[in-house]
Amino acid sequence: MSRARQNDPVLIAGAGIAGLCTAIGLLRAGVPVRVMEQAGELREVGAAVSLAPNATRALDSLGVGAALRAAANHPLRAAMKHYRSGVELSSYAMGPEMEQRWGKPYLQILRADLHTVLTQALRELDPEALVLGARVLGLEDEGGQVRLNTTAGIVSGRCVVGADGVRSAVREALHGDGAPSFTGYVAWRGVVPMNTLRFQGLDPDSAVYLGPRKSMLRYRVRGREALNVVAFARVERWADEGWSLPADPAEMRAVFGGWHEEADDVFEGLMRAGAFKWGLFGRQELACWQRGRVSLIGDAAHPMLPFLGQGAAMAIEDGVLMARALAEVDEVEQALACYERVRHERACNTVRRSDAHGLRILQEYAVDGPGNMPVPRDDFAEFDYDVATLALPL
Ligand code: FAD
Repeated sequence: MSRARQNDPVLIAGAGIAGLCTAIGLLRAGVPVRVMEQAGELREVGAAVSLAPNATRALDSLGVGAALRAAANHPLRAAMKHYRSGVELSSYAMGPEMEQRWGKPYLQILRADLHTVLTQALRELDPEALVLGARVLGLEDEGGQVRLNTTAGIVSGRCVVGADGVRSAVREALHGDGAPSFTGYVAWRGVVPMNTLRFQGLDPDSAVYLGPRKSMLRYRVRGREALNVVAFARVERWADEGWSLPADPAEMRAVFGGWHEEADDVFEGLMRAGAFKWGLFGRQELACWQRGRVSLIGDAAHPMLPFLGQGAAMAIEDGVLMARALAEVDEVEQALACYERVRHERACNTVRRSDAHGLRILQEYAVDGPGNMPVPRDDFAEFDYDVATLALPL
């Protein structure tokens, strides 16, 4: 196996959460990068992500902790509520108690704000690193180098990191496993201005309402200004054209009608604010991600249902570990193999746990009484992982 030239950049396909974290980690270690992003401008749709302590810990290792904390919400408590009665079924403390237990806070942040924090950090490290309007079309691994064919031209580098999401072109070039398939879950997502809601004192600041084959998650973002809302339902098939489209209020009312007045107010606010309807698509697990000098991270490697709030967290951890492996292991193919040895089991295991959790919370309940609902409680198994300091299996 030949060794790449030290000045050849690492090529990253996709400037999502995974791609940006990889690029920041590499630049901080002195490794040149080029991030090829298909979008002509960086624009995130209105939705947010939860960042559990493992994600915050990984982001801190990239030096973005202060900007992240300033932009994010710090929820104090989370609860599960009955969809019809509004009664709390279970709750747990998040704020200082969670930070004390895991050493890092649990944060909630608009995706656009997280993206801004990451792109600013990247541009401060290298203003030329990010290339917009560069859709990856294909690649050629030539042994010593890899050539990436994009709509902005051909670029060469020491290796390619496919961070181009669930519809990854890099994955298709490597593994040819076709398009993702519908998982049976639909999500309606949007951000609601708080001043448009009747119920102002929503308590706690982060809550999930559980109903039969349906649920709704809401939490505050941008201080107390807005509410991030995601409502889920299980359906037999995805009949719509495309996988993300403006939500139809009549359909939403038909699916979520008759919920507790507090939840109902949130749904009405969501419809006024303009929700998007997303089909959630997934893929079969790949036994391995790497081929030669090319590998995959984030949703390109292991798309995940959102029920554990760990999809972005796994993308961030992948990015930090990929950067560490490429910076600390001399030989490129060995570095990619090292990344996969560390990340494959953890990411795939989290995908499976998220699948199982989705089935638990979105199952068909036999009765409507608040006392009869199974109350899932996560064991927070992911939270103590420290991707920045774990020993690399060299
Ligand atoms: P993406 O964010 O999809 O980024 C891929 C990037 O690649 C994009 O910028 C795209 O434009 C670019 N791209 C695509 N194709 C090409 C190409 N051919 N050439 C160049 N560029 C390309 N995760 C959490 O941790 N917490 C949560 O609370 C949470 N909530 C969620 C709620 C919902 C409803 C959903 C659907 C997901 C949620 N997730 C959550 C999951 C999380 O959003 C994803 O796992 C995460 O965004 C994956 O990041 P990524 O960088 O791998 O992919």
